[in-house]
Amino acid sequence: AKSLGRNTFQLYSDMSNKGLGKKELYIQSRLAQAIRDERIGVWFQPLVAARPAADGSVAIAGFEALARWHDPDYGWVSPASFIPMAENLGLIGELGHLVRRQALAQFRRWLALRPDLHLAMNVSKRQLFAPDFVDALLADVEQHAVPPSALTLEVTESVALLDVEFAEERLQQIVAAGFRLSIDDFGTGYASLSQLHELPVSELKIDISFVRRVHTAEGARVVQAIVSLAQSLRLRTVAEGIEDEATAAAMRQLGADLLQGYHFGRPAPAEEIRV
Ligand code: C2E
Ligand code: MG
Ligand code: MG
Ligand code: MG
Repeated sequence: AKSLGRNTFQLYSDMSNKGLGKKELYIQSRLAQAIRDERIGVWFQPLVAARPAADGSVAIAGFEALARWHDPDYGWVSPASFIPMAENLGLIGELGHLVRRQALAQFRRWLALRPDLHLAMNVSKRQLFAPDFVDALLADVEQHAVPPSALTLEVTESVALLDVEFAEERLQQIVAAGFRLSIDDFGTGYASLSQLHELPVSELKIDISFVRRVHTAEGARVVQAIVSLAQSLRLRTVAEGIEDEATAAAMRQLGADLLQGYHFGRPAPAEEIRV
């Protein structure tokens, strides 16, 4: 099912177990129950302003919510494997709702202390294309008294381009409801200039693979090109995956607006975070 679009029928039809190893099959068999028992949680990773404050301190601008699942027998399961599984099993709507509720409840507490913070949440392809997605999202933010404008939804470049016409329509609905949109893993897809121009996004999140190569002359030029593209479209840029000060300095110098990565803070449970 390459082209998703309006054909939501196809979405849940490719549940074959082809290519899954023993571990994956085991995890897959546990996923529905883990969601039902609310054993999938959410951790938060800070996004910081590239420009340090006047006193030189690094200001937290917001957080990205990241789903976390610890299975008592298996151990930690990566979202990179259980999110696609939830999609294939038709469980992504429920899982998304669970993660969103937890993220919003916590974010509401932080907002009371820091009304300027924003929260980023990842949205996978079937989640985005589900007919009730925008309604579910609106119901959740309303219930937690979080203004839509404080939320940024991260959609990967390849998802935004799956069915450009439909994606555009859906993304317009999201923006009309007051949310912001970011293109995650930017640079790994093939968005054309005109497509980017049409999409109602306000941020590009530069993929970690480019951030890693910023120390080479060519890598720096590529990042420079992405930042100037973003600037000409009036989009904010985020550099993800920053693991050391040298990379942070390079990204600042090239004009990224926000920085994120282990260097500033690993994803952590809310209890370990001070805003
Ligand atoms: P992503 O949205 O691109 O998130 C960035 C990933 O990079 C996260 O992995 C994060 O923990 C990791 N990361 C952050 N800083 C660094 C760093 O300095 N170095 C390195 N090497 N990695 C860093 P994680 O949490 O395993 O998530 C993987 C992917 O799973 C995410 O990629 C996102 O696409 C997806 N995902 C996670 N949570 C959710 C969710 O709640 N819903 C949906 N739909 N997808 C999710
Ligand atoms: Mg993300
Ligand atoms: Mg990313
Ligand atoms: Mg990524």
